[in-house]
Amino acid sequence: MADVSGSRSAALMARADAHTMKTYGRYPIALVRGEGVRCWDADGKEYLDFLGGIAVNVLGHAHPALVSAIADQAARLIHCSNLYYSEPMAELAELLTQHGGLDRVFFCNSGAEANEGAIKLARKYQWRKGLKAKNRIVSLTHSFHGRTLATVTATAKPAIQEGFGPLPEGFDYVEAGDVAALRAAVTDRTAAVIVEPVQGEGGVRPLAREFLEAARAICDERGALLIFDEIQCGMGRVGHLFAYQAFGVKPDILTLAKGLGGGVPIGAVCATEEAARGFAPGDHGTTFGGSPLACAAALATVKTLLSEDLPARAAAMGEYLLAGLRRLQAKHPGLVKEVRGMGLMLGIELTRPARPVLEKCHELGLLVNVTADTVVRLLPPYIITAADCDRALEILDQALAAVGSAG
Ligand SMILES: *Cc1c(COP(=O)(O)O)cnc(C)c1O
Repeated sequence: MADVSGSRSAALMARADAHTMKTYGRYPIALVRGEGVRCWDADGKEYLDFLGGIAVNVLGHAHPALVSAIADQAARLIHCSNLYYSEPMAELAELLTQHGGLDRVFFCNSGAEANEGAIKLARKYQWRKGLKAKNRIVSLTHSFHGRTLATVTATAKPAIQEGFGPLPEGFDYVEAGDVAALRAAVTDRTAAVIVEPVQGEGGVRPLAREFLEAARAICDERGALLIFDEIQCGMGRVGHLFAYQAFGVKPDILTLAKGLGGGVPIGAVCATEEAARGFAPGDHGTTFGGSPLACAAALATVKTLLSEDLPARAAAMGEYLLAGLRRLQAKHPGLVKEVRGMGLMLGIELTRPARPVLEKCHELGLLVNVTADTVVRLLPPYIITAADCDRALEILDQALAAVGSAG
């Protein structure tokens, strides 16, 4: 890494490290400002941001429509609690449901909270039907559903569960993509199956359409609800406002967060009219969820996505970028094992740990990250141009060359 000791960045990092919990292996970069696809650190170094705050900044940094919506709403009404109605929430629920976000929406503050709500909704739905033992949740290997106790349990990864027991009961795991295993695991006791149509943290793995179709059919046969966790792959990232629209398989419950507010924290549990019957007044709630401020930010984000046809742009730019990544794979065959993804959710799987490539990218001014150890992940904003992609590919090429030649 670049030597940052003695810099403003180093001072900022030392202050944060002195008084925050050691939950993150943060990269040694301290960001202070962003504009479009670019951002700058405390010492003025410029970065091309191809991670977008982990799939959050879908409109890039400081998009004027988002900035003014937040400022206007902040001056009007920031928060009022769910004891009252507010216009931004009503309008956001209308907009989402009109464009495919199923029939009814519950707003919360984060992805884990949305999945937690979806699991509660599925169990309560079955319970209200008198099926009190129909409470098990099936999830997939390579999944990621969040960091609360129930969602780490749904996440089929021992490393993020270790030491947090006892975990909630009632979770079963199935190998991603294995239809026969799914058929065997979904029983009369299964309340719901939860799936990311494109798995993110698990290594950027799009699931096969056939697998999702089979999941739909198996859930229907067994009376289980199908939950799509679109927290990372939704909000236009894979070419449609909702990822399920790209696969042609409709879930009963859909969870959103990351890109929904364009950077402002907001999550959502969307459900069909039928599945939404699971919740009655008093069953579930949140103080902050669906605040006027967060909903105004999400409204500006979703309206911009729709009016500028940004999901289509994500698909087109994704194809352009993927073609470039395929050229890099051909050029660095010993180092690049596979490139894959959908839209602007792309991964470069290496034959070895990807951290050195990431460090070289940072040095050369490109923000990406590493997931599942060996996968370099790209989640850029949808406003990127072909020239931005060319520059990112140039840096990735240099980083792969440097790491490859180092042996
Ligand atoms: C990020 C993510 C979550 C968790 O979201 P948080 O806002 O971090 O709680 C859940 N599911 C998927 C697919 C994610 O990518």
